[in-house]
Amino acid sequence: FETSMLEKLLDRFRGMMTKRILVTGAAGFIGAALCVRLASEGHRVFGIDNLNSYYDPQLKRDRLSEIEAIAGEAFTFSQCDFADRASFANCLADLDISRIAHLGAQPGVRYSLENPHAYIEANIVGHLNMLEFARERQVEHLVYASSSSVYGGNEKVPFSVDDRVDHPFSLYAATKKADELMSETYAHLYRIPQTGLRFFTVYGPWGRPDMMPWIFTAKILRGEPIPVFNHGKMQRDFTFIDDIVSGIVACLGSPPADDGTLKPGGSTKPHAIYNIGNNRPEQLLDVIAIIERACGRKAEIEMLPMQKGDVPRTYADIEAMERDHGYSPTTPVDVGFPRFVEWFKSYHGI
Ligand code: NAD
Repeated sequence: FETSMLEKLLDRFRGMMTKRILVTGAAGFIGAALCVRLASEGHRVFGIDNLNSYYDPQLKRDRLSEIEAIAGEAFTFSQCDFADRASFANCLADLDISRIAHLGAQPGVRYSLENPHAYIEANIVGHLNMLEFARERQVEHLVYASSSSVYGGNEKVPFSVDDRVDHPFSLYAATKKADELMSETYAHLYRIPQTGLRFFTVYGPWGRPDMMPWIFTAKILRGEPIPVFNHGKMQRDFTFIDDIVSGIVACLGSPPADDGTLKPGGSTKPHAIYNIGNNRPEQLLDVIAIIERACGRKAEIEMLPMQKGDVPRTYADIEAMERDHGYSPTTPVDVGFPRFVEWFKSYHGI
């Protein structure tokens, strides 16, 4: 009898510690890495994704297989579209969720010039659906992805969450800023605890084929010229995937308080906004040199002018994340990029 009482108490304790977490964009680059981490920390993870073809859906399916192999029964996946209210309501109807990491979105600055509607659907309508879901379920915390692109061409560096951000350079950036405003409104109206995270150029294993690390690595390994915009004068605060995931996990565990005090990002409601970056802007040409060494080949560089929508530099002030969530990035680019190249080669059997 005593043993079963003890087991019951232990079960109750585990239930309090184990969170049931919804991760949207679970088959995406950051979402998949987060699912693996949460499941390995003992949480029950529900992932959703519509597996769209913005880039090769096979990569998304491979990421899901990787999560399933590592997380086992701690992970459940449903294919659904959160921008479609009926599909979304249907796939989440029976789920008991306490926290949400909303990472699904239409990303990419350049593609927003070609297909603006995709951004309104996924990032605006989709974000609203997520807010409504959080309101109906009274979830403990909604953490959502914003982006460094909201800083546009701000000249003062490092970029701080207290800086004004009202000159987006792309529709993508505008939708991310709109998400922050919508979240602020829902925090005010319904007191839903929320945290917006402005990610700074994330890279690492299982990365995105539309982003620079993947494009350059693929081309250098094939001996093709790499397109370098803004004549190589671009600076990016490259942040390794493991550091980003650590930041998200730390935030998920501590919702902003609803006590009227000022939160990072300027709100007195239960809504905080943080930068998650590496706090080190890198010159693109320096990063190319690291990729060249990791690939064992020299790059043929094609210098090109600045592209519409791109920002010249990003540089994150991460003081608020360090103070409130103990965030401290641990992977410098000369460690992170070789790890990406190594993963890239093994994924492609090179
Ligand atoms: P990703 O494209 O790899 O992942 C996003 C996932 O969302 C994809 O798997 C996609 O299929 C899914 N998705 C899109 N629309 C959907 C819908 N309507 N319903 C269901 N699923 C949908 O991108 P990522 O790099 O993992 O980015 C994750 C988040 O972080 C995004 O919000 C992105 O804007 C933001 N962000 C990323 C970076 C970066 O450097 N990777 C930088 C800043 C911000």
